Amino acid sequence: MHDYETRQPVVLARPDHPISRKLLDPDALWILQKLRREGHLAYLVGGAVRDLLLGREPKDFDIGTDARPSEIRRLFRNSRLIGRRFRLAHVYFRRKGEVEKIVEVSTFRSLRKIDVPEDIPPEDLDLTGTVFGTPDEDAWRRDFTVNALFYNLDDFSIIDHVGGLDDLSAGVLRLIGDPDDRFAEDPVRMLRAIEFAVRLGFRIEERTADGIRRNAGLLATASAARLREELRQMEQRGIVGPVLADAHRLGLLGTLLPEVVETEGVFPLLEALDERAAAGREPPEWAYIAALLLPTVARRYPLTPGADLEQAQDTIAGPVDALTHRYQISAHIRHQTREILLSCYRMARGKAYRTKAKFVRKPEFQEAWAFVQIWAHVARDLGEVVEFWTAYLGGTAAPGQARGAGRRRRPRRRRLASAPAQPS
Ligand code: ATP
Ligand code: MG
Repeated sequence: MHDYETRQPVVLARPDHPISRKLLDPDALWILQKLRREGHLAYLVGGAVRDLLLGREPKDFDIGTDARPSEIRRLFRNSRLIGRRFRLAHVYFRRKGEVEKIVEVSTFRSLRKIDVPEDIPPEDLDLTGTVFGTPDEDAWRRDFTVNALFYNLDDFSIIDHVGGLDDLSAGVLRLIGDPDDRFAEDPVRMLRAIEFAVRLGFRIEERTADGIRRNAGLLATASAARLREELRQMEQRGIVGPVLADAHRLGLLGTLLPEVVETEGVFPLLEALDERAAAGREPPEWAYIAALLLPTVARRYPLTPGADLEQAQDTIAGPVDALTHRYQISAHIRHQTREILLSCYRMARGKAYRTKAKFVRKPEFQEAWAFVQIWAHVARDLGEVVEFWTAYLGGTAAPGQARGAGRRRRPRRRRLASAPAQPS
């Protein structure tokens, strides 16, 4: 089932699924109950239903309702309307004055494609009457079938309008609707498809995958801020490597990161960063950018003992500046990225590098050292350089030990301690 059709949804009764009320967030539960008491339809929707059915812990709880945005705003004093085109409400929960949790409450959206002026006040939006739809229309507007399931608090059932339950049990990530239409409507969905497939260990359904291959170029028109946000989430989850590897296979990487010209060697570098993130030591954003660009930079101007640092700097500046500019990444992060990459060239000098003792204590040393060791598997002429630093580090105190134990530094030290260079 791929295309919108009004038909009876599949309803999974309470005994046939594992979601118990106890697993729901109490604040989301409170919102659902309040909306129901006021006579509105309200379901738990999206990722939380999917994750609970899979026995995973949801990241956040989203609610879909037939209450209009202005009504939601009125019912929940602790709420704010956000977004422009698709207005939705954020309900805030504070603890000790700090926002502790946000539950997203959105009005069911209609399938009609209407251009709503961005500055229209919420009351008028309500009056247009055509923007909002029924629960089944809302389900069909969502991105993937497994993201379009509703949990009904009235009878604790799961409501499936789009075939999401079948896909969930088969481990299939399927875009709802026609891929050409849906990807044109929002190209970020192409990246989200890959991200969800990796996260859930699902297979991307063939029609969806073909749609990505065909529409990959559209990603260039997507909002850079949203893409960066998706990338940041992958970093936090430690899945950048596998997601970008799939993006590469499906022809998306060239549009997502055109600066990454050389991909050989990129994925092992990303994998090492992902491992750190997965172990709860998330590397900074600049480490990811440096990993993405090291092979491209090193192909253009190889890391050799005789490499000129000024020329290295010039080679580094091009792709780093282009990437950080497109994603509107801060000057600080751009600077750090350049520093790490330049440190790889410093490291390549090996024995000839004059202020080694000082260099090894710099924060960027350890990042660069980790990179160079991995990159050496691709650029085999770096073997001697790696041997030199391994011996050098083996013969000195562990780098960083001379410095104060700042919070940021400890993870790096631990990483180094597990490297073969360290005396046991
Ligand atoms: P996560 O665990 O990352 O929060 P999620 O599925 O909840 O996963 P969100 O980005 O929080 O994803 O979005 C909530 C829901 O809104 C999705 O499950 C999906 O139904 C819908 N949605 C989000 N982004 C889109 C989009 N670009 N197009 C259509 N529907 C979307
Ligand atoms: Mg979510």
